[in-house]
Amino acid sequence: MTKMRRESLVAYGQPLCETVVDCPTPRGSEVLVRIERCGVCHSDLHLQDGYFVLAGDKKLDVTAGRSLPFTLGHEIAGVVEAVGEQVDETLIGRRGAVYPWIGCGKCTACVGGEENLCSNHRHLGIAADGGFATHVLVPHSRYLLDYAPLSPDFAGPLMCSGLTAYAALKRHTNKPERGPVLLVGLGGVGMMGLAIARALFRAPPIVADIDATKREAALAAGAALAFDPSDPQARKAVTTATNGGVLAACDFVGSDKSLQFSTGVLARGGKVVVTGLLGGNFSIAAAMFGIKAITIEGTLTGTLAEARELLELARAGKIAPIPTRQRPLAEAQSALDDLRAGRIVGRTVLTA
Ligand SMILES: [Zn+2]
Ligand SMILES: [Zn+2]
Repeated sequence: MTKMRRESLVAYGQPLCETVVDCPTPRGSEVLVRIERCGVCHSDLHLQDGYFVLAGDKKLDVTAGRSLPFTLGHEIAGVVEAVGEQVDETLIGRRGAVYPWIGCGKCTACVGGEENLCSNHRHLGIAADGGFATHVLVPHSRYLLDYAPLSPDFAGPLMCSGLTAYAALKRHTNKPERGPVLLVGLGGVGMMGLAIARALFRAPPIVADIDATKREAALAAGAALAFDPSDPQARKAVTTATNGGVLAACDFVGSDKSLQFSTGVLARGGKVVVTGLLGGNFSIAAAMFGIKAITIEGTLTGTLAEARELLELARAGKIAPIPTRQRPLAEAQSALDDLRAGRIVGRTVLTA
């Protein structure tokens, strides 16, 4: 029997550890994917800790429903190695990006096509074993998305950071005449958002980040203007530059400060879509919703249909790849450490 190697979470708050087990045999509709790449994401850090910080010392425990050892990793690209008895064998050898936000298939969210919002989900690398491994078991071949002619380095991260940015930006596409979209926070998701925004909107986006290096990188990647939200004059500068405020913003940070900034620069009728999970409590004068007719909307990753749309855009060459660094699977923990220390520009992908 083939063995699979994993960099496993064996205890919360502890370094990942190599474990070797028998490769699972796919049954029924399942497919076994040999992993070529798996991106390392910020949420992997929270899962390793076992909690998200909400605000102050308030934490959201995320240890439930997962037995250890567990395999993190949800930005997977790989090759079909074996299939269950209900799956066409010609699928063996096919390359694909794996949509990881797999639901129960039965609840209202799943039936409505929003498996990413399922509360009884089997999200890969979150509730079911994921991609910091040589192999992953996927419940159905419909979650395998063609990515040719893209590289697996790009295709894997599109399934989380790309999809998160795409789903947020899509919530602004109903009013394309609204002037430049504002992107707050230029980490992995924000930089992906910049590349995708350039494909979706005619006007190049404007950006904000407290880090000068990231602002430079965004300007080099096609942002029209970059602002430092920690500058007390920044809100005024954004309002001036946009003739009275922004109508469409994405907050990829999700902290009290970032939300104060992104809601503070909205024009009447403007909307902020929030994807970031940094933490903190945010308050706003309740009357502002009516007075300024503003919307604050949250999104969580994206649907399978949105993942397909995003891949179509990328395969058509409309989205510039973000900088990516390859590291061997055995360096998964070092990659997480570097991410935690803020030493990463763009994306790190593990190679199995
Ligand atoms: Zn992620
Ligand atoms: Zn469900």
